[in-house]
Amino acid sequence: MSDAARHKPCPICRKPQVKEFAPFCSARCRDRDLARWLNDGYALPGPPVDPEDIAREE
Ligand SMILES: [Zn+2]
Repeated sequence: MSDAARHKPCPICRKPQVKEFAPFCSARCRDRDLARWLNDGYALPGPPVDPEDIAREE
């Protein structure tokens, strides 16, 4: 099973994610991620996904 994916930490702050806001821990982090995506097109370079996040998916 891919149950481990449910236990991945919040990609924003690394706290345990909350089901209601998955894959984030809170609405605040969800909003931060959304803002980051929107800003990506303008100023912030770099990949949108942390490679370590993928590697941790077991
Ligand atoms: Zn968070």
